[in-house]
Amino acid sequence: MIIVAGIHGDEYQPVRILEKNKIPFVLGNPRAYQMKKRFVEQDLNGCFGTKNENYESVRMRELLKKIPKNEMVIDFHTFSATSEPFVVIVDSPPVSPSARRGGRSEAGITLLGLAKTTGIKRVVYMKHNIKKGHALINYRNGISVELGHHDSKMIEKRLIKVLKSITKGKPHKINLYEVYGKIPASPKPKRGEKEKDDYINFKSNGEFIPILAGEKAYNFGGLKAREKRDIIKGRNEKETRKHSVIVDLVFS
Ligand SMILES: [Zn+2]
Repeated sequence: MIIVAGIHGDEYQPVRILEKNKIPFVLGNPRAYQMKKRFVEQDLNGCFGTKNENYESVRMRELLKKIPKNEMVIDFHTFSATSEPFVVIVDSPPVSPSARRGGRSEAGITLLGLAKTTGIKRVVYMKHNIKKGHALINYRNGISVELGHHDSKMIEKRLIKVLKSITKGKPHKINLYEVYGKIPASPKPKRGEKEKDDYINFKSNGEFIPILAGEKAYNFGGLKAREKRDIIKGRNEKETRKHSVIVDLVFS
């Protein structure tokens, strides 16, 4: 298992916490981290597999060399929105040769199983992939863990808990959300009008469940998701796998 932090340079807490606790990890974007910026030239987590020539694309190729294909990746993030923590799994993880033949993502099955062992209650399935398939976890098998607000005092506790839970490997009951669209950027409020900010992340507004609404790094309003019935209540790994297959079928 390979731990990654600081893919976004301004998400400083996971990096500092891993250093402080002497937990080995790969620093995603060293130059942006030094500059306290999200990125230098391009969002590193949106450039995997692209053919650009800039700092991030060079770094992307270095990271793919550093992280062997057969390793599981735990990729830690924080955000600027007001939200509970959550785990992200993507719709197009790297597929195994047998999956390629059958057209079914075996990796996806394992990844949902992994997500359930983090102890984080909310798992977000990025069917509508906002990174357009160019995130790290589109190129390596793994999960992204969004630990909380950049400045939250809970980040250390959560990060350590996630690593301990994954080590134990016991699957937990989760709430599963499927992202299917984007919330458009809200128009600038007219003079005298209050800024509209009705969304509460992970709480349905009747039409959709907002995720990362109010995130400053986005040029749109956030993500639209719907809840998937939690049919994954496996008490042991074998049972979990069986249920995960069902989820995979539901999603396909
Ligand atoms: Zn991030």
